[in-house]
Amino acid sequence: MSDRITGRCLCGDVAYEAEPVSTSIDACHCTSCRRWSGHFWASVNVELSSLRFVRGEEHVTWFESSELVRRGFCARCGSTLFWHPHRHPKHAHAIAVSAGSVDAPTGLRLTAHIFTDEQGDYYGLADDVPKRAKF
Ligand SMILES: [Zn+2]
Ligand SMILES: [Zn+2]
Repeated sequence: MSDRITGRCLCGDVAYEAEPVSTSIDACHCTSCRRWSGHFWASVNVELSSLRFVRGEEHVTWFESSELVRRGFCARCGSTLFWHPHRHPKHAHAIAVSAGSVDAPTGLRLTAHIFTDEQGDYYGLADDVPKRAKF
């Protein structure tokens, strides 16, 4: 269990606090995350029950990106904020929060690149963070 994090979208209409499941951040290179975010999408997992909106929950727009998953973004500024497998029988209790939205100091660390078999053809990954072809 980690310290609580706080964060917000670019315009500030949406602000939240939550308790991360761990201090690990995943960077997802799948096609969906790249289209959604504009590049790859880094996030930290939090327990849904710990997520509290400081303001603006009503400004989060949800997009059903697949059968099991919905993605939340700020309706005003478009910041990507949440990835939630809300229809998944086992994983609906957790929600991934955009690493870029977390206020510093985050106390978090990038520990994995995932879905690198779908990464874009326009960049490389030269860091020493472990890479996984799939999840
Ligand atoms: Zn916003
Ligand atoms: Zn992804």
